[in-house]
Amino acid sequence: MTPDEIHAQLQALQARDLPSHGGRTLAYVYDSGLADADAIGRTALTMFADSNGLDPTAFPSLLAMENDLVGMAGALLNAPPVFAGSVTSGGTESVLLAVLAARDGAGASPGGSSMVLPTTAHSAFHKAAHYFGVEPVFVDVDPETFRADPEAMAAAVRDDTVLVVGSAPSYAHGVLDPVTELGALAADRGIRCHVDACIGGWVLPHLDAGPPWDFTVPGVTSISVDLHKYAYTPKGISLLLHRDSTLRRGHFFASAAWPGYTMLNSTMQSTKSGGPLAAAWAVTRAIGSQQYAVLARTAREATLAIARGVDGIPGLRVVVEPDSTLLALASDGSCDVFTIADEMLARGWYVQPQLAFRGMPATLHLTLSAATAPSVPDFLADLGESVETARAAGAVPVDAGLAGAIAALDSASLSDSDFDGLLTMAGLAGDDGSLALPERMAPVNALLDLATPALREAMLLAFLDRLSRPS
Ligand SMILES: *Cc1c(COP(=O)(O)O)cnc(C)c1O
Repeated sequence: MTPDEIHAQLQALQARDLPSHGGRTLAYVYDSGLADADAIGRTALTMFADSNGLDPTAFPSLLAMENDLVGMAGALLNAPPVFAGSVTSGGTESVLLAVLAARDGAGASPGGSSMVLPTTAHSAFHKAAHYFGVEPVFVDVDPETFRADPEAMAAAVRDDTVLVVGSAPSYAHGVLDPVTELGALAADRGIRCHVDACIGGWVLPHLDAGPPWDFTVPGVTSISVDLHKYAYTPKGISLLLHRDSTLRRGHFFASAAWPGYTMLNSTMQSTKSGGPLAAAWAVTRAIGSQQYAVLARTAREATLAIARGVDGIPGLRVVVEPDSTLLALASDGSCDVFTIADEMLARGWYVQPQLAFRGMPATLHLTLSAATAPSVPDFLADLGESVETARAAGAVPVDAGLAGAIAALDSASLSDSDFDGLLTMAGLAGDDGSLALPERMAPVNALLDLATPALREAMLLAFLDRLSRPS
């Protein structure tokens, strides 16, 4: 193929994706609306795409940019002078490494430690528990405020607990956990406290809202903050900061016990592209702290304007007053949120369905970027129409046979043929045993909503397995 043909094909492939720019995709992507900052980020991304962060002495540029970014974040999060940090590939890796460092710092081995976290903590902590053998002890959040309950969390701390977790803010509901209390509880027990500020860490310092949650809070030992979210940098970069460098040691790794090069890694990856790091370095300099403050306030005002607008839409409500730039919307029962998501998509907006969980209702998640601000009136008009359409459509019909089948399935033993049977019943089976994804996702979400979390996971894994097959 010629370069032109390849480019055309890439464009054709990309045309089916959600748009990353334009402010109409309210999850997954972040748009500053600043074309110049985007352009310099792409230039840096390409310039450093082939460099390798495997060896900081071979590519000193990458080390210098990493130290600059960590320094910038430390200033933003009020880190003490002895703090240290590392660049990671994303929020999940930052969270994984915070858990690993806490486990190893306590001298615990897999299976020999636990961590206490609110039920609203990001699923990356479940992954960390799974990977590193740290037992997660989940504590229900306050049912009114959706915030962590520090007394209940204190009661859940055990002799083998190495870490307490809070979010700033939580992804699902956009509220800040009481970090002061969580830090105090961790300090009191001599254990670590990680604040997951993956999504709020670059926004909250610019808003004068809410209680403290950064390194000014005694007892907070580490904080994760994603650059590929509200620093509006290209994907593939987050930061994990520690109060001091000894706390970081547990996620460093060296191996000289083989005949090849001595391996020395600060994170999980070994060979890693310098592209996302250079792009983040460039974009953070292009935007700068004054402009970040403007972007944060713009996104915050858009969030509050949407919250006020939702108050005027019968049938829909804001689940909890937002602390940052995220919103969760729920129905009063007169309309189905999953249908609203489909209706919004038909109108060119992506809002993210969140399933009901432990007494918390099914919701629509909205992450507001600065670039959405000018379109808030259009968004609210389309949302109002979508809610009306959803109300007229009524409840999403779930076939009684299908509901019965779900109720009878055991997540521990979901077999391929069980799953194929479900797919066929749900009309999702293609001719050749593949998947036939429907236009509208509401029936699928309604079905998942009926299942227990364990069964949801089993069905999703079977789904992913069928999605990812060689072409
Ligand atoms: C996005 C997010 C993560 C995970 O980050 P990825 O970059 O998707 O791996 C973790 N915690 C919170 C609160 C987040 O919003």
